[in-house]
Amino acid sequence: MARYTGAVCRLCRREGQKLFLKGERCYSEKCSVGIRAYAPGQHGQGRKKSSEYGLQLRAKQTARRFYGVQENQFHHYFEIAERKQGITGDNLLRILESRLDNVVYRVGFASSRAEARQLVGHGHFEVNGKRVDIASYLLKAGDVVSVCDKSRGSEKIKAVAEANSARPVPQWIDVDREAFSAKIINLPNRDQIDAPVEEQLIVEFYSK
Ligand code: SF4
Repeated sequence: MARYTGAVCRLCRREGQKLFLKGERCYSEKCSVGIRAYAPGQHGQGRKKSSEYGLQLRAKQTARRFYGVQENQFHHYFEIAERKQGITGDNLLRILESRLDNVVYRVGFASSRAEARQLVGHGHFEVNGKRVDIASYLLKAGDVVSVCDKSRGSEKIKAVAEANSARPVPQWIDVDREAFSAKIINLPNRDQIDAPVEEQLIVEFYSK
């Protein structure tokens, strides 16, 4: 399935909540969720009651859109999560959080996950001193993500890091802004993950 290239604010409005897809604008009064609090399209203000399946589908779509993951890859993550020990929903969220693009965004080296994906794809980041340009790269506890030496002088990287320096960083990541690096202390528990995701509904969706 091709990546969605339309107006991303429509995705938030469709899910009825902020998915933080657009950087600074998401934290401002210009956010469309506040201005037009109904789903997009001709029937957006119509019937709101959902079936059980509808709720499960929306939960899955919300998570997929929040993390910017394609359907096939999301399903693949679910299968990995199912095979791991522990609670499948928690495992799924931990996998999504451990993606390199997510960590780059979480620590404020990018304004959105989409921008993080682009910066990673352009080769601006290293993991444990080796360049990694795969946004879906899964990090482990102890891994260190840093901006490549060559990219530290980039005005764009410096401006983005400066603009996002006040954004709170999750407890499971130790960020060093001077060194443009971040260390994964541990992969997060559910209560350390700030995400608008109802993982139990996703488990039910794929368990049908
Ligand atoms: Fe648009 Fe961001 Fe608001 Fe979503 S949260 S509607 S992407 S401004």
